[in-house]
Amino acid sequence: MEKYDVVIVGGGVTGAGTARDCAMRGFKTLLVERGRPGGATTAASTHLIHGGLRYLLYDRLTTHMTCWDSGHIVRIAGDLLTRLPILWPVYDWHSHGLETVETLLESYDYFQRMKSGKAHLRVSARAALDLVPGLKPEGLVGGVLFDEWWVDPLKLVDKNLDSARRHGARVETGAAVERLVLEGGAVRGILTRGGEIKADLVINAAGPWVGRVAAMAGAEIPLRLRKGTHLVYNRRVVPVGLLLEAVEKGRYIFAVPFDDGTLVGPTDVDAGDDPSKIETSSDEVESLSKTARFYLSGLPERHDSTIVGARPILGRGKDERLLSRQYEVFDHESRDGVSGFLTIGGGKMSDFRAMAEAVTDAAGVKLGRTASCRASAETLDGRPVGNIPEFPKPVAVLKRIFRTRPRLRQMHALAYLAAGYLRHWRIKKHREVMDSASNILSYYRD
Ligand SMILES: Cc1cc2nc3c(=O)[nH]c(=O)nc-3n(C[C@H](O)[C@H](O)[C@H](O)COP(=O)(O)OP(=O)(O)OC[C@H]3O[C@@H](n4cnc5c(N)ncnc54)[C@H](O)[C@@H]3O)c2cc1C
Repeated sequence: MEKYDVVIVGGGVTGAGTARDCAMRGFKTLLVERGRPGGATTAASTHLIHGGLRYLLYDRLTTHMTCWDSGHIVRIAGDLLTRLPILWPVYDWHSHGLETVETLLESYDYFQRMKSGKAHLRVSARAALDLVPGLKPEGLVGGVLFDEWWVDPLKLVDKNLDSARRHGARVETGAAVERLVLEGGAVRGILTRGGEIKADLVINAAGPWVGRVAAMAGAEIPLRLRKGTHLVYNRRVVPVGLLLEAVEKGRYIFAVPFDDGTLVGPTDVDAGDDPSKIETSSDEVESLSKTARFYLSGLPERHDSTIVGARPILGRGKDERLLSRQYEVFDHESRDGVSGFLTIGGGKMSDFRAMAEAVTDAAGVKLGRTASCRASAETLDGRPVGNIPEFPKPVAVLKRIFRTRPRLRQMHALAYLAAGYLRHWRIKKHREVMDSASNILSYYRD
């Protein structure tokens, strides 16, 4: 029977990136995915490689880390990415006024450069309406624009897997891991319908299913699943992205245009504990279409389909702001007394490469192999990346402290925003520099 150094369970973006990193380090690697690679949570995302603007409100280090790694993703997967300008229109009844919103964007500018983003723009109501002619004019006081990277998530996964294969990995699809092979407190492989597969190490990269896979070894992962639905329109209904405060205040949704369609969403509601059973509810559809119709005239009467997924968020707290979107490597040997088994949990598509690096580093230690990560030095097509700019990573000790102290994490974020707000008023650089759609679009054209 063939034996692997590493078997990875799950072929979403996390597993695919991990297979690539493991294979690039010379580990004999197998990835096992029960469905279409990337077809679960990854496909249900908003399709953005983004820094997580809203985490600046309560988890600044996550924004930092995500932007830092998004920079690497831009360099290794640039062919798959399209710069997407996103307008955040501000109305006189919104929870946050234009100055507060711009302060947030000023803070975000610092991280944007890490992912080749541009400095934000502040635009007048007239310019916003010129840019998005169907936008509701009543009460509009102006807006800000920022940019993120649009990606086809399935292509991102496929290209990672192609790269992994070129470096020697094997990929098995349509194969569910039914259980882990356990021998005397150690994981020694996996069992699929096709039989047993031996491995020195099994990496659990099953996204929202990590808890279920970990349970096969008697381990528990603290996970809170949050369901997110998007409405899909089979045509572009907006010329640029939009970030809209939901009609039921306090939440924001995107309208994201791509070649031949538009995504509107996501929602963010409790998903129960079985990610295989999540479905879009009529309440979600009603709430998304209500907001989209409120802001946009000319929206088609009905959406064409919906997509839904469960965010794999680590933690158990009830208040979302006390949960971190950071990722974590769980070493089940030191944590649960089960050797040969690692889990990579949490995170986002936008830091999948860093997640892969972290768990592959841990795998290298377990296997006694010292090869270092080259995943950001080579594009997914196998070309050298060349010059990699050096941006500071979040301070590791702060990350460790904040992991278990969510209130402190939130205070840290708010302290930066308060300082930013003072600076904003002192500098008074309210830059309504762009007064027409063509000027705005040419700013965002590379
Ligand atoms: C609504 C929504 C919007 C989002 N938007 C964004 C965004 O715009 N940008 C961003 O960066 N992040 C976004 N995220 C987060 C991001 O999508 C996820 O963090 C990421 O896709 C998770 O990838 P994954 O590989 O860990 O999980 P998945 O993509 O779910 O992959 C896990 C895989 O494991 C497989 N699997 C599970 N159990 C088994 C088993 N027993 N045997 C074999 N295979 C198994 C599953 O079939 C699945 O394919 C969003 C999430 C949601 C829900």
